[in-house]
Amino acid sequence: MGARDRAQTAKRRGTALRWAGALALSTAIVMFAPASFPDPASAQFQEANIHHSGLLGTKTLALTFDDGPSRFTGELLDILKAHNIKATFFVLGRQAERFPTLLARMRDEGHVIANHSTTHARLGRKYSRNADMLLAEVGDTHEVIAPFLRPGQGLYFRAPYGFWRVSHAETLNADPVLRHYVGPVFWDIGGHTSIDGEGKASASADWDCWRREWTAEECEVGYMREIARKKGGVALFHDVRERTIKMVETMIPVLVADGYRFVTLDQVPAYDQYKTPQDLPSVPVASLEGRQLADNSPRWTWVQ
Ligand SMILES: [Zn+2]
Repeated sequence: MGARDRAQTAKRRGTALRWAGALALSTAIVMFAPASFPDPASAQFQEANIHHSGLLGTKTLALTFDDGPSRFTGELLDILKAHNIKATFFVLGRQAERFPTLLARMRDEGHVIANHSTTHARLGRKYSRNADMLLAEVGDTHEVIAPFLRPGQGLYFRAPYGFWRVSHAETLNADPVLRHYVGPVFWDIGGHTSIDGEGKASASADWDCWRREWTAEECEVGYMREIARKKGGVALFHDVRERTIKMVETMIPVLVADGYRFVTLDQVPAYDQYKTPQDLPSVPVASLEGRQLADNSPRWTWVQ
């Protein structure tokens, strides 16, 4: 579906939602918004990467796998399942289209599917000048993954290479569907490779390990040392190379034995402040809870 079609679909959805809101108001169910309801002013796509996960020092890891799915992702899902660990997959739209059964499996096994653009484009100035191109990179992938999102799950976007511009937030937030994304989400662990005085990795980024032709064992040393220093965080991997899968397979039992807990991005409280309430501009926030009760639908109706 092209950006234009998608915008029209989104417009229709917005209209449907406003009708739903009006209907709820007419039923006059008066409810108070929960105290934790996000502040709309602070929600929506952000003008810079979201760096603060709040997980450092908590012995909690959010494993994130970017750029897939690929032919190696099934093996990774087997490993995660064996340890009952849920992760977050920042998929590319062009890859997701090729592997719908893997997306269904991710959903069925409790993982969070997230958006990492359609073509892994560096979202630079060209995308500031051309809103349709930016909307296609984010929106076309949303259309591909939407049928595989669990009702009620949060929507997350990570920019390829972490590349972002201030103006992108305004462009994407003008879209009634895409403005519900939390993003762009950055990472705490796995962002760079560094080597200590003895020639051992003190930090690793998997793609850079493989570029340097390191073994999985050599790369793992860097990941484990960075995790040990930070004692938790959002960890970045790429499920497009078999060596990454092998490395994660040996890391997990060690981390479990060390008392680490594993969460999806949906379970990271620091991101809740960026979640955008459903788009009902003419309806006071206090009535949203009533609307949910009235039409008995989950908050993220449009992701189904
Ligand atoms: Zn990537």
